Amino acid sequence: MSNITERKPHAVLTPYPAQGHVNPLLKLAKLLHLKGFYITFVHTEYNYKRLIKSRGPNALDGLPDFRFEAIPDGLPLKDNDDGDVTQHVPSLCNAIRKNFLEPFCNLLHRLNHSAATGLIPPVTCLVSDGCMPFTVQAAQQLGLPNIICWPASACSLLSVINFPTFVEKGLTPLKDESYLTNGYMEAKVNWIPGLQNFRLEDMVDFVWTTDLNDVLLQFFIEVANRIGRNSTVVFNTFEGLEDDVMNALSSMFPSLYTIGPFSLLLNQSPHDHLASLGSNLWKEDAECLEWLESKEPRSVVYVNFGSITVMSPEQLLEFAWGLANSTKPFLWIIRPDLVIGGSVILSSEFVNETRDRSLIASWCPQEQVLNHPSIGGFLTHCGWNSTTESICAGVPMLCWPFFGDQPTNRRYICHEWDIGIEIDTNVKREAVERLVNELMVGEKGRKMRQKAMELKKKAEKETKPGGCSYINFDKLIKVLLN
Ligand code: UDP
Repeated sequence: MSNITERKPHAVLTPYPAQGHVNPLLKLAKLLHLKGFYITFVHTEYNYKRLIKSRGPNALDGLPDFRFEAIPDGLPLKDNDDGDVTQHVPSLCNAIRKNFLEPFCNLLHRLNHSAATGLIPPVTCLVSDGCMPFTVQAAQQLGLPNIICWPASACSLLSVINFPTFVEKGLTPLKDESYLTNGYMEAKVNWIPGLQNFRLEDMVDFVWTTDLNDVLLQFFIEVANRIGRNSTVVFNTFEGLEDDVMNALSSMFPSLYTIGPFSLLLNQSPHDHLASLGSNLWKEDAECLEWLESKEPRSVVYVNFGSITVMSPEQLLEFAWGLANSTKPFLWIIRPDLVIGGSVILSSEFVNETRDRSLIASWCPQEQVLNHPSIGGFLTHCGWNSTTESICAGVPMLCWPFFGDQPTNRRYICHEWDIGIEIDTNVKREAVERLVNELMVGEKGRKMRQKAMELKKKAEKETKPGGCSYINFDKLIKVLLN
């Protein structure tokens, strides 16, 4: 081991094994690496195989001081699982609670064994996804500091840490499913400081179940309980975006760092040498950017529902005909597993009607797409990464949240920041047609674009030298090196 490697602090980063977590954690890993950290980045074996499949056999070769490791998730492989499928979220959450602690501790012992023989520096800290609660136990067992990265909105953390209180107050479990639609969800949550304007339906929706033993409710109660009040928590958000929430959280957790958007902070340092360290679980379709080149500025609707959202064939058809009837050009990313119950079938009538102004692909380099000058609006499921990436590109949104923190993000996008319009869960083609036109050429769309541009500028300011995210990251590094 060289002297330089010997002196390096060594951070072990562990994302929840889903695309929307792996992406921001990898960016954080790169940020730390640029500050001189030796990095071990931990995937599940399942995702490790997917990355090799999507990015090629050398995808996880890493660098001498940026290594990838894998631990098993203990889940059986389903028949016909060829690695193009998002894993079932409740099964994954169950597996995380039951199966991950032991292999993770074994990995840490193995790393420290290598360190003892002089091959790598000893592990000095864990940087763990808040949704990987076993890392807190591992850190305690090994006597290591554990920095929590909350890769979703700060608001979603405030929502999740209140899950136990929702149970205590008898607000959940619901007596029956009619409560989801009978007006109950419209009640205000004004008893949680920081969430003054929130309605029950804006909460992270894993809290809404009729069963106290529901896997996701219990998983997030464990997440809430494991994030100790003395934890250091890092957020992919920035000052000005969720200030009321950050103020409320700061009174509970003394050590919070908003250092987002990670991608803009990363742009402050040259990092082309880290470009080979990627995280796409699906193979990118390179044609998308080329196709956008042929389109007018701000003319294209970009449609992408992220890595987990699924929809019925009927819903897919409503979106398809809404887009077709809007007469606007569109780039639509349809994952192989987007439609419940099988493959996507779009009629030849639809294909003929939209052929000259549409491109359908299965995965794309989203950040590059959003930043392409031809993109005028984003029809999104409101995942936090998609939300912040859209802000960074100054692109307004049409919002069709699916689950989890997405209804919470929708609340901010449409009602706090005024950069988006909602589409009803029960999506209809007439609404899609009308709202796409409003977004792309309407007066409301114009105002939203202006506000999105203002937020983009604010995000850029906060991540440049002198900005809050920039300063907070430097402070975090000092804490990690102490
Ligand atoms: N993404 C991508 N290409 C696609 C679809 C998604 O690169 O075709 C990326 C996107 O840029 C984002 C992540 O996958 O970083 C999705 O995360 P998000 O939080 O938006 O949604 P989730 O997939 O977790 O529901």
